[in-house]
Amino acid sequence: MTSGAVWARWSDGARPIALDVLPDCPSISADSREPCCEFADHPGAHSYQLDSMPVETW
Ligand SMILES: [Zn+2]
Repeated sequence: MTSGAVWARWSDGARPIALDVLPDCPSISADSREPCCEFADHPGAHSYQLDSMPVETW
């Protein structure tokens, strides 16, 4: 079974222009066992490697 989530895309000051259902990133921290909160094949670091959530520009 594959899990996923609904993600929205929008520009600053605008309403969302698209909704996508994307599979979850399968990565889990080897140290803390915390799962990544991003979508599969996301750019950059996994969420458990960050002090704050990334802001993606499309
Ligand atoms: Zn990840």
